[in-house]
Amino acid sequence: MLKALVYEGPSVMNVRRIDTPVPGEDEILIRVAYSGICGSELSGFLGKNALRKPPMIFGHEFSGTVAAMGSRTESSGEWAVGDLVTANPLVTCGRCEKCLSGRQQLCPERQLLSASLPGSNAEYVKIPASFVHKVPDGLSLRDAALTEPAACAVRAAELADAKPSHSAVIFGMGPIGLLTLQALRQYGVRTIITVDMNRDRLALAGRLGASRTLCPADGDPLEAVRSLTGGRGADVAVDAVGAEITRRHCVSACTAGGRVVLTGLHEEESSLPVNLIIRSEVRLTGSFAYSELNFRTALRWLAGNRIGLPEGVVEVPLEEGSAWFDKLIRQPGNVSKVLLKPGGARP
Ligand SMILES: [Zn+2]
Ligand SMILES: [Zn+2]
Repeated sequence: MLKALVYEGPSVMNVRRIDTPVPGEDEILIRVAYSGICGSELSGFLGKNALRKPPMIFGHEFSGTVAAMGSRTESSGEWAVGDLVTANPLVTCGRCEKCLSGRQQLCPERQLLSASLPGSNAEYVKIPASFVHKVPDGLSLRDAALTEPAACAVRAAELADAKPSHSAVIFGMGPIGLLTLQALRQYGVRTIITVDMNRDRLALAGRLGASRTLCPADGDPLEAVRSLTGGRGADVAVDAVGAEITRRHCVSACTAGGRVVLTGLHEEESSLPVNLIIRSEVRLTGSFAYSELNFRTALRWLAGNRIGLPEGVVEVPLEEGSAWFDKLIRQPGNVSKVLLKPGGARP
């Protein structure tokens, strides 16, 4: 038996004892050390995400140790019990045209841990071995749990097609916004304006390299972006919120011919100024999750201290999970990421 935090209906999550999963022959059972709460799961917690039906174990940003493995995985000789690992939670087929062309996140057969497969808010989680990655030397298990959100940021920055001479604006300084800020810096972008309602998060963005931080309570962020970019608008605008207002702001803040990257999934539908998109040839793209290569890049950048969340990460026991989902929805304050510790974490 194992302890798991089970979503049982809108705003209801309880720690339950359930059977420990048995790894299939190509699978690995991971003893979870850290499991992050993802912004995309907050709407699920409220019962507003059709993909997350109760009963369900959330959690897809995690790290831990190899606890057991199936027969074929064992005979591959690649893995040993006790190995420090993280895993790409987007389980894909590996055979379709999308997978073979390195866009695994678009695989029509994809299954995400925490949506269609049991997630990592539990003492143990199982996943096919081909999605498991060893934690590189020098990277802590705690930081390795950030690989998944960091990979989302790597993808968003890749699609932004940014050059060192470019200016960028990012709406939303939650974990994905903060990580995208750092990912854009890896492309040499130095003018990065960040916008958020939360002043704690803006202050953190400043310490992580934002050239300007804007709180909409202090004035129209669009006017500020315009004046900070000499009247032309930003070359790159990233929405890391997913609300209609921030999606619209991205289009309006962008220079003609610039690039808008939408990554936040908060609202299902939004109205956008399409004629403006046409007349200014704004290139608008969605950015979903990450490819396998993006995931590896994120792990390498984390290990090299090129990206991360050096502040505001809180570690809490699994039992406090439900209360923290609540708190993240109502008042995140200076928290950049909540890591649940299902128990038995080794350094
Ligand atoms: Zn996530
Ligand atoms: Zn596929």
